[in-house]
Amino acid sequence: MPRQHAEFYEQQSMFYVGGRDATGQPWASVLAGRPGFVSAPDSTHLLIQSYRRLPEDPVLLAPGAHVGGLGIDLATRRRNRVNGTVQAAGAEVRLGVDLSFGNCPKYIQVRDVRLRLDQLPPLPAATRPPAAAAAARATAAGGAAPPPHPPPQLHPEAGAVVRGGGEELGPAQLALIARADTFFIATGYSRSPAAGGSVLQNAVGCDVSHRGGPTGFLRVERDPQGSPAPVLRWADYAGNNMFQTLGNLATDARAGLLIVDWATGDTLQLAGTAETDYDDRSLPGAQRSVRFSVSQFIHAAGALPVDTSAAAAAPAVQFSPYLPKEAPPPLAPPEVWTSRVGAPLDGAAAAAAAAAAAAAAPAPAEQVEVVSVRWAAEGIKTFEFAMPKQQPASYRAGQYAVFEFPACYERPAADDPPAATPAATPAATAASCCCGGTVTRTWTLTSHPAADSAARGTFSITVKRAGAVSGRLHDSLRPGDRLPLRAFAGDFTSDLVLPPAPATPVAAGGGADAEMLDVGLDPRQQHLVLLLAGGIGVTPIWAVLRDLVQRDAAARAAVAGGGGGAGGGPRQRVVVLYSVRRGEEAAFREELRQLAEAAAAGADGAGGLDVQVLLTTTVPTPGVEPGTAAAAAVEAAVVLAARRGGYVEAAGVRLGAALVSAALGPAGLAALRGGRCAAMVCGPVGFMAATEQALVEELGLPADSLFSESFAF
Ligand SMILES: Cc1cc2nc3c(=O)[nH]c(=O)nc-3n(C[C@H](O)[C@H](O)[C@H](O)COP(=O)(O)OP(=O)(O)OC[C@H]3O[C@@H](n4cnc5c(N)ncnc54)[C@H](O)[C@@H]3O)c2cc1C
Repeated sequence: MPRQHAEFYEQQSMFYVGGRDATGQPWASVLAGRPGFVSAPDSTHLLIQSYRRLPEDPVLLAPGAHVGGLGIDLATRRRNRVNGTVQAAGAEVRLGVDLSFGNCPKYIQVRDVRLRLDQLPPLPAATRPPAAAAAARATAAGGAAPPPHPPPQLHPEAGAVVRGGGEELGPAQLALIARADTFFIATGYSRSPAAGGSVLQNAVGCDVSHRGGPTGFLRVERDPQGSPAPVLRWADYAGNNMFQTLGNLATDARAGLLIVDWATGDTLQLAGTAETDYDDRSLPGAQRSVRFSVSQFIHAAGALPVDTSAAAAAPAVQFSPYLPKEAPPPLAPPEVWTSRVGAPLDGAAAAAAAAAAAAAAPAPAEQVEVVSVRWAAEGIKTFEFAMPKQQPASYRAGQYAVFEFPACYERPAADDPPAATPAATPAATAASCCCGGTVTRTWTLTSHPAADSAARGTFSITVKRAGAVSGRLHDSLRPGDRLPLRAFAGDFTSDLVLPPAPATPVAAGGGADAEMLDVGLDPRQQHLVLLLAGGIGVTPIWAVLRDLVQRDAAARAAVAGGGGGAGGGPRQRVVVLYSVRRGEEAAFREELRQLAEAAAAGADGAGGLDVQVLLTTTVPTPGVEPGTAAAAAVEAAVVLAARRGGYVEAAGVRLGAALVSAALGPAGLAALRGGRCAAMVCGPVGFMAATEQALVEELGLPADSLFSESFAF
């Protein structure tokens, strides 16, 4: 388990689990505690202590039980998963971690859920408090400091619990299902009973996974087989293609669902069996659908101590831009399930759910016009568009644009039916496409929100030709064409690495720099920004760098305009390490060179930043030994580190700890180790893993100072 994951779990106040009951039936559940209640004593264990369980939770947390765990920060869409085996249980649960992995955040709805600290057991005195901001999302009542003494009741009664068979689901449970935009699903796999052993001994693995969709994406339908219990059906969207949940279901149909009412803390656990229909694309956005027959439920009122005080009142839910915008079709009368208990989910309840779904549905895509197309590097083009007239009106540097295409775009253009007119463009094709359904694609905004979008009224994306959809853009998108833009979104922005505001503006002429250098405190190293890009992963890195430059220049201009001279604080150092296979494939190569050379010359082009860029190409240079190339690269990096800005290229070498360390120099390395450095990395999966290993494991960057974005789905 990487340290980044371990520290993430330590910041959470909720830990979702998938486990089995005594019969082997999987259930999804959640444990709650003060941040720090889940900790990682080492890289292969999680320790869960001082936790609060859901009332009557059937999940067995007994030694030998296989469980899946999920940490998810709904406010930032970060999530990580583990699979493991309970080694010790009781007041403390010790989990041996077999597998730990990050997960795609695509369908997560952003919401700020806070638990009341005074309703959660105090942590043991020796527990190290978690460092990061997410921990602050657990609040004491009314936002006050936690009570100095343990509250009188550590595990308060959570209120009424209703349980029953699927056919006994009533209006309260159906309303919760109808309002859901998020649920958690537990599945598992087992050895064949032929192997002998008890049900639990044969149960091998268990997973818990998140599912998100528009409000009402869980449809309550009548069981076509005639069972009195309902079937819940949902669209399975394009995901990370890992298929853990669907893979488990293929071997063991039993599954458990957990739905949380985020406003009240009510929980609904459902158990049953699920079946994947790989051909059912009838629901909006569906690659396939899943049908879940409910056999049991447990509905616990106020099971999670959600802070409902005005101080913690949750802002509106921010729906994922990846959700399909079309509402699911209404159920035909023979499909409507009628509960034996109380009213069926029809009439007013169905109308209310539909209204909620409509209100929550993301805005329809707006057609934005292509203004220009130009080559950015070999196999990479920059497409410039007119800004949308409606929302989204702006974006932050590092965010991405989400476009929507007809589903047939995932096939090569050669398979298209003949175009209606010779002038058919992607947009025209979209209108005439007969395949039904849509797919989304995401590209980072490489324009600047102020310098380009506010000033010129355009935004740009820079796209590498990769598969079917990017290939179509490369081949057919021309000025005047239009594409449907769904949203600007993303959290991988320059805000992550902005320096803390200087306490007092510094006087003109770099005098403060000189003074501080005199006393041995190099202000350039007070907040070091390290930007690492692999291949097309340069797009957000370039956007962030440009924003840092723009902000710094604006801050200095403001100080100068206010009579403070040309200074705006100590010069800040930004080191960019960019790796490509060949130089011709490097987008923004010339722009980076100009910016870094302007910095080296002390010119205005780089604002007041000391921008140092090292571009490495990995394809070996014929006739040059890899060792010689690596030594030359380190030498070039050492020279660069000693300068105030500058640009160098090194051939036939991969980025590793030695090269990063040379590029930072001793002072930069001290900043990196001393918590005065923020790093952003984006690139292919292997590049990001190697970079994280070099920065965190080998060079000692605190894991919570490293921010990464993956382009992989
Ligand atoms: C946050 C982010 C920013 C990105 N920024 C850039 C960028 O600046 N420049 C760039 O060239 N690429 C970028 N990408 C990658 C880009 O989104 C596409 O994956 C890439 O262009 C290949 O798409 P394709 O359709 O041509 O390839 P294909 O091979 O047809 O698709 C790639 C595979 O990924 C899946 N996939 C890709 N995108 C999505 C999606 N949005 N939703 C569901 N499944 C998807 C497809 O189903 C397919 O399996 C970014 C990706 C992410 C996640």
